[in-house]
Amino acid sequence: MVRTLRDTQLVINLNKIKKNIEIVKDIIGPDVAFMPVIKANGYGHGALGIAPAIMETKPAYLAVATLSEAVELKEAYPDYPVFVMGHTPDKYLPYVVEYGIAITVFELKQVELLGRLACDAGKTVTVHVKVDTGFHRLGKTPSPAYADEVCAMFDVDGVYVEGIFSHLALTNEEENDRQYDMFCDFIEEIEQRGYDFKYKHIADSIATVDYPQYHMNMVRPGAIIYGMKRNEAATVPVEPALVFKTAISQLHEIKAGEGVSYDYLWKAERDSIVATLPFGYADGYPRNLRDKGYVIIGGMKCPIVGVICMDQCIADVTDVPNVEAGMEAIIYGDGSEASQGAMTIAEAASLAGSNKNEIIARFLERPQRVYI
Ligand SMILES: *Cc1c(COP(=O)(O)O)cnc(C)c1O
Repeated sequence: MVRTLRDTQLVINLNKIKKNIEIVKDIIGPDVAFMPVIKANGYGHGALGIAPAIMETKPAYLAVATLSEAVELKEAYPDYPVFVMGHTPDKYLPYVVEYGIAITVFELKQVELLGRLACDAGKTVTVHVKVDTGFHRLGKTPSPAYADEVCAMFDVDGVYVEGIFSHLALTNEEENDRQYDMFCDFIEEIEQRGYDFKYKHIADSIATVDYPQYHMNMVRPGAIIYGMKRNEAATVPVEPALVFKTAISQLHEIKAGEGVSYDYLWKAERDSIVATLPFGYADGYPRNLRDKGYVIIGGMKCPIVGVICMDQCIADVTDVPNVEAGMEAIIYGDGSEASQGAMTIAEAASLAGSNKNEIIARFLERPQRVYI
């Protein structure tokens, strides 16, 4: 058991994540494999903390972005199937073999090296081939030469070419279709030569929910399993699973005209009570929410005032009845009644000029995660 040593906590409701996954699984149906994405420390929710709950939903893989994330999972849970969606440089391939991690490839030369390492260890390594259909991030553009290269990967001992995938830029429907068709044509070209892929995938959360025509036989949703919808109008009934909260460290009574925090950038317009809160940008709270962010204390909306520091910030609590040190402050709510109108991740994203995924991915190690 991890000891609780700090009031600044991310309270994560594992049942809500599981419910969101069931909603996604209902959308995709029983014939499409499910590969939930838990990169970036499970979108801030704590990959190690949420992985066992997610495994209860029987995913084909847990997907991460980097080998380091995959190794962290494998060290904790050697039996969980883990897939790395990003690029793994050659020098790290021994770890891929050692931990039995499935990786993304797009170079025959790398697959051959991987095959040699796997054979030396008496193992087989699983790979999915990445195809660039326009995003220009990873993978190669379909061409006869790339088709030859992919076919040759199938013949490498020690390597199992299990899947092929691409990524939609989600620019507009016409461009989605162009990318998708390019991907399907390329797969067909290879399959006509007698090579089959068990898994073919191109859909992230948005495509999984909004474009069933791109499900193929596997999807890779991330944001949606944490309750992050494309926009607030989207009808898919997923719910955020996370509440970010803390407790007041200290209260200060200040006179009208006095400032708070660095440079006294906020000055009290009236005699005020301000509360010091033990969270800051080193916990992942956006520093640019100064004079925009607020917390809920005693049911009241309390604006964050003055510069947000690395570890602390200050809220105006003048209007909170019977305010005292130690009172709970809700920083981000989950939209439920219990969060009393606290700022949602969506609102924080919009006020900070960011997106929801960035707001949750920027939670660092420091805020303690508590799983319920
Ligand atoms: C992050 C990522 C996903 C998941 O994206 P969401 O928008 O969070 O669903 C899927 N595929 C790849 C390749 C990714 O990098």
